[in-house]
Amino acid sequence: MKLFRFGAPGKEKPGILINDKWLDASGFGEDYGETFLETDGLSRLQNWVKDNLNVLPQVSAGAGTRIGPCVQRPSKLICIGLNYTKHAFESKMPLPAEPIIFFKSTTAITGPNDGVLIPRNSKKTDWEVELAFVMGRKATYVEEKDAMEYVAGYCLHNDYSEREFQLERNGQWTKGKGCDTFAPLGPYLVTKDEIADFNNLHMWLKVNGKMMQDNNTDDMIFEIPFLVSYISRFMTLLPGDVISTGTPSGVGHGFTPPVYLQPGDVVELGIEGLGEQRQEVRGQ
Ligand code: ZN
Repeated sequence: MKLFRFGAPGKEKPGILINDKWLDASGFGEDYGETFLETDGLSRLQNWVKDNLNVLPQVSAGAGTRIGPCVQRPSKLICIGLNYTKHAFESKMPLPAEPIIFFKSTTAITGPNDGVLIPRNSKKTDWEVELAFVMGRKATYVEEKDAMEYVAGYCLHNDYSEREFQLERNGQWTKGKGCDTFAPLGPYLVTKDEIADFNNLHMWLKVNGKMMQDNNTDDMIFEIPFLVSYISRFMTLLPGDVISTGTPSGVGHGFTPPVYLQPGDVVELGIEGLGEQRQEVRGQ
């Protein structure tokens, strides 16, 4: 299934994409968040849709309908740093012996086409196309062999990053990762069964029409089952939590000289099977 959310920020309604039709699933009565997932919402929704398919209103996916982030605000948005070999190389950092984990604030989460706001006093706002996954069950000390049972599905994420805040302002990367609009999620939460091999997905990102990142998840160092198990040794993951698996090479910071976003730029990105995003860059 491909689930999406639509409507004004904070007031999104649930929807479902079936046979390329955007259908309003608000009659189901639940938003796509922690409670929905932990109570087997995906199976319940599937059955409900089967029974109601012919009466579900269609959502016009064009202009005038905002697509929201594909999940309700989660308890955590966790990212993995330097998880692609070529990106670690362009960042001039060694391959990590263990995953690098950092948090993005959940207030950074926004819809896939809402646009990105360059933070005040920013000079180095950068892009990162990423494969994210969404937890379906509460996970504590999970074995790697069981890990995928805890995953609900996948979504596209642009892990926007302010490189000066992240790398030159002391301390953790967090300062450069959690600014408002820095985490567009969606358009869809794509359930696990729809992606045959998460280790072989084409992923790309363009700025003003120019291809900047053109890669495949096969370059990923620490794969999803290992990441679920690894993170669950340090904290409990809740249903709806989003984990973003790192970006491949081609970020602005990796160019010589570096390239950063300016107001008026347009960023487009996609991952095979997960849909596409488009963000206009604005100042504030
Ligand atoms: Zn990232």
